[in-house]
Amino acid sequence: MQVEFLHTPIEFLKGVGPAKAELLKSELGISVFGDLLYHLPFRYIDKSEFHTVSAIQSDLGYIQLKGKITKLQEVGADRKKRLVATFQDHTGSVDLVWFKGASWIKSMLNYGETYIIFGKPNFFKGVWNIPHPEIEKEDNQRIQAGAALMPVYSSTEKLNSKGLHTKGIAKLTANLIEKINGQIPETLSDEILTKHHFLSKEDALRIAHAPADFKTLDKAVTRLKFEELFFLQLLLVKRKIKNTVQLKAVSFLEVGELFNRFYKENLPFELTGAQKRVLKEIRADVRTGKHMNRLVQGDVGSGKTIVALLAALLAIDNGFQACLMAPTEILAKQHFESINEVLGDLPVKVSLLTGSVKTAARRIIHEDLESGSLNILIGTHALIEPKVKFKNLGLAIIDEQHRFGVAQRARLWKKAVLPPHVLIMTATPIPRTLAMTLYGDLEISVIDELPPGRKPIKTVHRTDAGREEIFGFMEKQIALGRQIYVVYPLIEGSEKLDYKDLMDGYESMCRRFPKPGFQVSIVHGKMKSEAKEYEMQRFVKQETQILIATTVIEVGVNVPNASVMVIESAERFGLSQLHQLRGRVGRGSDKSYCVLMSSDKLGDDARKRIETMIRTNDGFEIAEVDLGLRGPGDIMGTQQSGMPDLIIADFIKDKEIMVTARHSAELILDDDPLLEKPEHIRVANELQSILKSRPNWSRIS
Ligand code: ADP
Ligand code: MG
Repeated sequence: MQVEFLHTPIEFLKGVGPAKAELLKSELGISVFGDLLYHLPFRYIDKSEFHTVSAIQSDLGYIQLKGKITKLQEVGADRKKRLVATFQDHTGSVDLVWFKGASWIKSMLNYGETYIIFGKPNFFKGVWNIPHPEIEKEDNQRIQAGAALMPVYSSTEKLNSKGLHTKGIAKLTANLIEKINGQIPETLSDEILTKHHFLSKEDALRIAHAPADFKTLDKAVTRLKFEELFFLQLLLVKRKIKNTVQLKAVSFLEVGELFNRFYKENLPFELTGAQKRVLKEIRADVRTGKHMNRLVQGDVGSGKTIVALLAALLAIDNGFQACLMAPTEILAKQHFESINEVLGDLPVKVSLLTGSVKTAARRIIHEDLESGSLNILIGTHALIEPKVKFKNLGLAIIDEQHRFGVAQRARLWKKAVLPPHVLIMTATPIPRTLAMTLYGDLEISVIDELPPGRKPIKTVHRTDAGREEIFGFMEKQIALGRQIYVVYPLIEGSEKLDYKDLMDGYESMCRRFPKPGFQVSIVHGKMKSEAKEYEMQRFVKQETQILIATTVIEVGVNVPNASVMVIESAERFGLSQLHQLRGRVGRGSDKSYCVLMSSDKLGDDARKRIETMIRTNDGFEIAEVDLGLRGPGDIMGTQQSGMPDLIIADFIKDKEIMVTARHSAELILDDDPLLEKPEHIRVANELQSILKSRPNWSRIS
């Protein structure tokens, strides 16, 4: 019975005929009572607050005034005819204007009476007036309770034209609320309701549409947001349980010979506290026989690679193989080289597999993998090709996760009988609450400390006018033996122009920094990988001082001697991209610099991005700003954003509620993983119905 109320077709509501029903459906997706109830006001106008006439100076939106009518006259003729009332309070006077219904309004108004008016001031020919205000005698004011905050609903032009503007919708909603009367089923458990002092679902919905004051409104909206986030987190936590607790995995029980020898003899530096902590977290995971699914977040340069390598040694010590997958060939190669270097003469066999490995060499790798003589395989996407078969893969490490989709992760899993433990390393810090959703099924570790001795990178902003100064600065840095990156944007859709800018830039750089005193190399996506590699190597070996590149160097390249990063057309890069690029310098002991070049004219967002870069080096702070500017979907890139949509709550604004919801979801599933207890029946039912009604959510379950 109860569910039916929410699912009653909207045309059964008083005031909605077939035509309006059709329109509500097509314009706002409202087809049943429940949809209308969830079409919450997007803001409220406080009718308990009064403005004064003298305060009408700028656009205030809707305001309420109290005063008297001092003059009433009809002016103009024919179609321009209108009624103008001079309205006065203790601070001044303003004209009220009616273009329609003049005689009726005129007959209602009396001089001497105190009125309360409500409307939106309009600036016309140098003076303010208020067209078509609501007007009431003070005595009549809102005797009915709960009307102090007036709801404002979003509408559309089409709906407007059929009388379904915000007020029309408010009227319908009021009709609906009148009928509610105990017909909205509760969805949260009594325990949660009591613990958080939540309103019932019915009260929350009722109040959200007609709140008496902001405090009760807040209670109502919080309850509704909590509910939405709670069910989302419930799905995520359920999936996590499925992936870990219920999924058997291999155990790395012992810390063996290789790990210990490496730690004592080969480790070129002492691990930072954060690195040690994360390593402990990993070790705790892989011991349990449960499946590890862990995301390691660490700002650029925080030293994620060594942590990954230590984890790989742990796998090898326990008789398993490990693989490390990187997003680009350059990065894979670099990992291969640096890992081989630190391993020194330890008996660990490491190979590199990328798209450009020749067939013969590839065959050897395949054989070594299957025989088990190969311990660590490093590579690109080539690793997930079906031909690549491991003897016993125990750990899969994915570097720079944001370039890999969830589907690709899954393909790695299938490479062993029991799924390998998965360690994902990302340098794109994701704000915690977002990570909670996007990677809700992963455990999260954070390396929140940089190796000692790093100096913050100084970031400046210049336009073309400052170019010569920057060239001079580059010259001085080169004289000190330093190297410089100059990066150009390469953006989908404008490649042709972007390549032209890049080549123009390269030519002018070669003119400004001529041979033989200077050497300039260039790397971009259109080059063959051998040529790219050759140019990169020249820079790595310090044979060239300037490396001009598109964003191919964005991820992972490590040249500690480079101390300047010049980013051309910086306004065209996203914030996290800028931060990643900047992270290419500041890796050695020298003071490093980042120069953001842009045109003079900057949009608001671009300005904010540049200001943020100048203000802070903290990747997490930058991620928060980025999230605010772009929204969560964009941050992860469309193809794999996987962000579930929310109707009421907001990933950015409702962080705290999200944390509470997560916690509640964990508690309830801890106690009752399958939601079988009688006290959880409401929650279980609602979860089922959400899976049906929200296809976008069922993907994550
Ligand atoms: P990222 O987290 O960006 O992948 P890397 O693993 O490439 O960072 O490490 C960046 C640099 O810092 C490397 O040159 C690495 O050798 C060095 N490094 C890592 N950990 C430490 C440490 N604890 N002390 C000193 N240097 C370190
Ligand atoms: Mg790295």
